[in-house]
Amino acid sequence: MSSISRRHLMTAAAGLAAATAAPRTVFAQAAAPAPAATAAATGPFTLPPLTYPVNAFEPHIDAKTMEIHHGKHHAAYVANMNTFAKDNPQLATTPVTDVLGNLGNVPEAIRTGVRNNLGGHANHTMFWQIMGPKGGKPEGDVLAAIDRDLGGLEKFQTDFNAAGGRQFGSGWVFVIVDKSGKLSIETRPNQDSPLMDGKRALIGNDVWEHAYYLNYQNRRPDYLKAWWNTVNWAKVSERYAAAKAGTLGV
Ligand code: MN
Repeated sequence: MSSISRRHLMTAAAGLAAATAAPRTVFAQAAAPAPAATAAATGPFTLPPLTYPVNAFEPHIDAKTMEIHHGKHHAAYVANMNTFAKDNPQLATTPVTDVLGNLGNVPEAIRTGVRNNLGGHANHTMFWQIMGPKGGKPEGDVLAAIDRDLGGLEKFQTDFNAAGGRQFGSGWVFVIVDKSGKLSIETRPNQDSPLMDGKRALIGNDVWEHAYYLNYQNRRPDYLKAWWNTVNWAKVSERYAAAKAGTLGV
């Protein structure tokens, strides 16, 4: 686990004491600057480093796509948030879950920008975290929940892929997990996040063309099928346990 992730988890754990009946949990930005991808990315928001090489998912996701997706697209969301934070420092000191869960509190002039860029930052932070080489298979509580709520692994993956395929234009397909551990499939357009609805994503797949176009061009269904080879199920199990404990951040 990276030091940044560890800080996030520790911060989230520290916020637990304040969590009561509300499902909202705390996820503060790391305050310490990390090596920035670009000069524009310096500031309180940081790009979480990948914990695996960019070629880790060949041939399912090519190295160039990973490099651009993480180092350019995600980095741009981070850089844009740092620009917003210059005049609005509260964006960086308020937990991401709280900012996205209360967008009405963000100044109107930057609200759409924060929705898009902080949403993108949160979605991609989750995305890199749930992927990993040698990802294994779902087991234990997660597998039991998939069987109970989503009709078993095969039906779940078919339905998830279909939902991702139906998402018109750019967006995401998620598995939402509630505090009781119940799972459901939902999609969002653009960089909208389930956090905006006070919900938590167990996993999500990015169906923006930037996630697959170099290798798959218009063949999004092929990408959706291949992506399952990149999922780190041990990490998904950790997130599932955290969701039930009320400590899952982004
Ligand atoms: Mn993306």
